[in-house]
Amino acid sequence: MPDTAIDVRPAVQAPFDLKALRDEFPILAREVHGKPLVYLDNAATSQTPSRVIDVFNHYYTRYNANIHRGLHTLADEATAAFEGTRARVQAFLNAEDSRQVIFTRGTTEAINLVAQSWGRQNLSAGDEVLISMLEHHSNIVPWQLLAAERGFTLKVIPVDERGALDIRAYRALLSERTKLVAVNHVSNALGTINPIKEMARLAHQQGALILVDGAQAAPHQKIDVQDLDADFYAFSGHKVYGPTGAGVLYGKKALLDSMPPWQGGGEMIKTVSFEPSGTTFAETPHKFEAGTPAIAEVIAMGEALGWVESVGIEAIGQWESALLAHATERVSQIDGLNIIGTAPNKAGVLSFVVDGAHSQDIGLLIDQLGVAIRTGHHCAQPLLHHFGVEATCRASFAAYNTLEEVDTFVAALERVIKMVR
Ligand code: PLP
Repeated sequence: MPDTAIDVRPAVQAPFDLKALRDEFPILAREVHGKPLVYLDNAATSQTPSRVIDVFNHYYTRYNANIHRGLHTLADEATAAFEGTRARVQAFLNAEDSRQVIFTRGTTEAINLVAQSWGRQNLSAGDEVLISMLEHHSNIVPWQLLAAERGFTLKVIPVDERGALDIRAYRALLSERTKLVAVNHVSNALGTINPIKEMARLAHQQGALILVDGAQAAPHQKIDVQDLDADFYAFSGHKVYGPTGAGVLYGKKALLDSMPPWQGGGEMIKTVSFEPSGTTFAETPHKFEAGTPAIAEVIAMGEALGWVESVGIEAIGQWESALLAHATERVSQIDGLNIIGTAPNKAGVLSFVVDGAHSQDIGLLIDQLGVAIRTGHHCAQPLLHHFGVEATCRASFAAYNTLEEVDTFVAALERVIKMVR
């Protein structure tokens, strides 16, 4: 064979058995509008493997019961599985203690918990909270609501033209007035990965705390809250191959212990009395978990984290980077397509606009070809306005996506662009 015929491109292969892994996700076998589903909306929610779905069946057929208060076997089993999930999350985050894991409905509720409990207790006029231009609305609006009530100032860390956080501006914004830095680890709209460890170090130098919205980081990279030195870290189960309705707030133990409850009700009390100040509260974490939690969802989330660990989070991140690189290269060749968000350090998110084509039209038409992407403002309106757009198309990748799916997506996109232009 002549030399010129030798294919010297490096073989790009998933660092796991991709076919076997896909087989674990029953939904990936379905068709949409008569075409095989190509699911590229993973930043909104990821799909769920059978072993996670099976948790629901097992829970409701074997041990459905309310937790903590029961003396019967089913209540014991449900409590053990629920509380056992705390240890699973502790290991996933490398937290020191499982009591630092608070179960919430998701990232949004976790951030609201910090705002309403720690924020209401610690923030007042003259204080400053730093958020970034990259934030999801769930890490903007809770602080705006509280700022209106408590009178502190909210300041925004800018981004550069690639969508990378301006660290110089961050340093300049930090002062002795800064009480909290609340930033995402990875931007859902652009994929930018923020240098959280460095940001935490700088925040702590000024005596400020750091809250990390890890909704888009937990599915893609190893999270070590001790190494990051995060004071609070939040993520959602449904973006880590788990169910909706369950998420996590991690906090440093001393901080959590010093914080008041934010919602009152059952489960979060020690004693209740009609005497003034007669009601006493449970210890961390239960004082933050009023009412019956999403028991099956929390247990299933733990199973999803177990699934991620069995594949290997580093392997998942590595594969998503390969998918992103391939997709970026392919779409860059499309005439009039502009990628929004080209930071050097990016997770598997590809946001783009196309000259002469509305993002919404692209989203609707590409769905007819079986390809699920997201179009809109991605709950990051200030960021999109900063880039001068109202909406983008966003393809986002997960462990189960294939290079062939990326090619199908690009071919479908080219077809759709021709139709709408
Ligand atoms: N933060 C980021 C960066 C997100 O991407 C999302 C969801 O898209 C959220 C917060 C909110 O997560 P949830 O809706 O699960 O509370």
